[in-house]
Amino acid sequence: MTERNGELENPQLIGRELVEWFRVNQRDLPWRRDYSPYGVWVSEIMLQQTQVAAVIPYYLRWMERFPDVASVAASNEEEVLLYWEGLGYYTRARNLYKAARLMVERFQGEVPTTRQQLLALPGVGPYTASAILSLAFNRDVPVVDGNVERVVARLLDLGCPIKSAEGRREVLRAATDWLVEGKARLYNQALMELGALVCTPSDPQCPSCPVVSHCRAFRLGTVEDRPVRPPRPRLEEIQTAVAVLWDRGRIYIQKRRAGGLFAGMWEFPGGKIEDGESPRQALARELWEELGVHVQIEEKIGRIRHAYTRFRVTLHAYSCRLRPSGQQVTARAAEQGRWVDPRDLGRYAFPAANRRLIRSLQEMPGSGA
Ligand code: SF4
Repeated sequence: MTERNGELENPQLIGRELVEWFRVNQRDLPWRRDYSPYGVWVSEIMLQQTQVAAVIPYYLRWMERFPDVASVAASNEEEVLLYWEGLGYYTRARNLYKAARLMVERFQGEVPTTRQQLLALPGVGPYTASAILSLAFNRDVPVVDGNVERVVARLLDLGCPIKSAEGRREVLRAATDWLVEGKARLYNQALMELGALVCTPSDPQCPSCPVVSHCRAFRLGTVEDRPVRPPRPRLEEIQTAVAVLWDRGRIYIQKRRAGGLFAGMWEFPGGKIEDGESPRQALARELWEELGVHVQIEEKIGRIRHAYTRFRVTLHAYSCRLRPSGQQVTARAAEQGRWVDPRDLGRYAFPAANRRLIRSLQEMPGSGA
């Protein structure tokens, strides 16, 4: 491979080699079977911040229930959230639903075909618009995700962080230069697939890499140092106390208000433990503030730790009973509250830590959940 002023002399050669490698080595993924615009759009939204292996079962279940844009639009947010439950980042599901309704209103239930129209859809940013244009419609646009950033940073031996202005510029320039005209669908996926299967974050398989002869980091022995990354911020630690509140054989759950974190999802009542409080004290206070009731706090039934993107939550869960039974509960901090049969908890969408608590409840003998 020859280079001139740090650039490849025949930039499309690397693109063509990637395409050939991809034709033979690509994974059989459900959204690759026909590249329908609807399937590409749904998969791209699911794949935002979520690994391929985790997405596949959700995607298959989703397509069975919602085979086209119209079926999503004809459903409701509650059901859409239920089919999304466990994938996280629930704003994606709410946006998907809103976007489906828009497509029915404005585009006869089809995924639109221009960048401008795509960017007007809730949940579709520049990356997703490029991915849809390229994968669904085979338009000649580069697609840069985390895998592509890493692969390009190594191929070019980029000495700056990939999220810096210079890093972004260099990665986009290379991904554009290498693009094989008329083969954007295959080319873009080839770069991403190489990052997912061969040029992985911690264990790149350079000897079996189809573009090793072009790789400056391999040649210079800097693969382990690329990409250059700034240090990660520490996750905020949050301690919460929650109640599995029983009365007359039913459990109280409440729906989070619109606009905030986990908006529209259901949860057990409770809240943050303030400085100097024990979990039990925090729970008694929160239940009075949130529901206006007195409860008997019984045994601790779980301690669940769960990491979200920006914080890590520890959930101290207690079994509680209304004392006296039958008190009027007022959902002061939630959109609505509801007493449910514990066997019906599967019909509501809960954030991951709450769902883990439900699973541990179901494993407890005689819980009724
Ligand atoms: Fe990545 Fe190694 Fe291939 Fe370079 S040679 S692109 S570091 S797998």
